[in-house]
Amino acid sequence: MSDSFDVVVIGGGPAGYPAAIRAAQNKLSVACIDEWKNRDGTAAFGGTCLNAGCIPSKALLESTELYHRAKEEFAAHGIKAPDVTVDVAQMQKRKGSIVKTMTQGILALFKAAGVTPLQGHGKLLSGHRVEFVGHDGTRRELTAKNIILASGSAPIELRSAPFQAPYIVDSWGALDFDSVPKRLGVIGAGVIGLELGSVWRRLGSEAVVLEALPDFLAIADQQLAKEALRGFKKQGLDVRLGAKVTGATVANGAVDVTYTDGKGEQKLTVDRLVVAIGRRPYTKDLLGPGTGVELDERGFIKVDHECRTGAEGVWAVGDCVRGPMLAHKGKEEGVMVADLIADRFAEVNYKTVPSVIYTAPEIAWVGLTEEQVKVGGKPYKVGVFPFLASGRARAMEQAQGFAKVIASKDDDEILGVHVIGPMAGELIAEAVLAMEYSASSEDLQRTIHAHPTLAEAIHEAALAADKRAIDSINR
Ligand SMILES: Cc1cc2nc3c(=O)[nH]c(=O)nc-3n(C[C@H](O)[C@H](O)[C@H](O)COP(=O)(O)OP(=O)(O)OC[C@H]3O[C@@H](n4cnc5c(N)ncnc54)[C@H](O)[C@@H]3O)c2cc1C
Repeated sequence: MSDSFDVVVIGGGPAGYPAAIRAAQNKLSVACIDEWKNRDGTAAFGGTCLNAGCIPSKALLESTELYHRAKEEFAAHGIKAPDVTVDVAQMQKRKGSIVKTMTQGILALFKAAGVTPLQGHGKLLSGHRVEFVGHDGTRRELTAKNIILASGSAPIELRSAPFQAPYIVDSWGALDFDSVPKRLGVIGAGVIGLELGSVWRRLGSEAVVLEALPDFLAIADQQLAKEALRGFKKQGLDVRLGAKVTGATVANGAVDVTYTDGKGEQKLTVDRLVVAIGRRPYTKDLLGPGTGVELDERGFIKVDHECRTGAEGVWAVGDCVRGPMLAHKGKEEGVMVADLIADRFAEVNYKTVPSVIYTAPEIAWVGLTEEQVKVGGKPYKVGVFPFLASGRARAMEQAQGFAKVIASKDDDEILGVHVIGPMAGELIAEAVLAMEYSASSEDLQRTIHAHPTLAEAIHEAALAADKRAIDSINR
């Protein structure tokens, strides 16, 4: 096997593997190195997202949402299901088989595209070289004109609550519980903390979420965040804001947590504690001496807007570089770099990266929040449409939440779209496309939306921005 390639990608997660596939589509010879090993010791492509993030969390969110709906909502439909029970082992088995199918699918995609998969550790050396050490210990030196670093991220550990499996765990640990913890603590009310808290709460855990910041979901539009907090509280998720964890110790099979809030020192005892305070770039043993690749003060690989590092022919994409730590952001960066390497036009529009929280109701947005627009000082208008007025949402028995469109008063350009409600993560795609094409709210208003669909909420919210909504009262 040749050790010389046009492109070597280090990291086979959602940033790295699409880069490898696109480079191969561009008729370049490509190898993709990945060192991920699952708990059973098997090597797998797909990185955090497929093995321990996006996909397993969505599998469990779907299962537990179905359970919740069977228990709480079926009766309203006239369906009697008095004896609905949960089989956590089967739920986990299903999750595991989805993950396996998806990760093995990457190998099939590589084979079809002509990408050489290499499972083991990759290290960038100077002079367009990469050291590869396979999981079986074999060492090879590869050369490539272009090298793409896609080494991803790792969970941040909290000094006051160090990981101690199975009691104090990270998100991966929380996806693998084999039974429902009676009392669950989650540190961090971010996307991951809320999703994991929801999973186990729906199955019956008494779930307390401790968030150090005083505001809930500070990154989101605050109208949305308020609605979300109301919803989570109704579901029994006990979200405590301004709660700074000062210690966590394991004793007698439980975790004693101490934290301070506005009222002083507080105590909480839980059976399992999930630390979900964020992730940091992962670059352990990635860079050999003299490569010219630099890290910033937070450990991210320094890149320009086209993901070029300071070293000629070396690029970096995904969670290991600046920007939101999202699979789709990494994927677009990977594809962009593979196209740039092949001298094709490519760019990533960072202004239209959507964010989704897969709770119930789902939360999704793209563009600016109302708070950000206000700070920018641009005159703006807002249209809001409640799902209570949506026939489809009513038929689904999921009429909580709203769609909100923010547009510029001067030229009507859409500045941000925010949705909390059923299938918000799917609905936001329309807004992303509209913003990608620099659409105005009038463009959305003049676009026919099938009736009755949830997407009509975005149509009506755009109309409401000009006080021309038909199916809700214009205020
Ligand atoms: C619980 C959870 C849920 C999430 N849900 C979502 C979601 O719904 N939507 C979303 O967009 N994002 C979600 N994310 C975030 C998403 O998983 C990351 O943004 C995404 O995985 C980043 O992709 P990446 O390719 O940059 O890195 P990773 O997925 O971390 O992949 C990096 C890969 O590189 C390998 N690697 C690292 N260093 C080396 C080396 N030196 N040699 C060889 N291999 C190496 C790693 O083993 C890994 O396989 C979630 C994350 C978590 C933890």
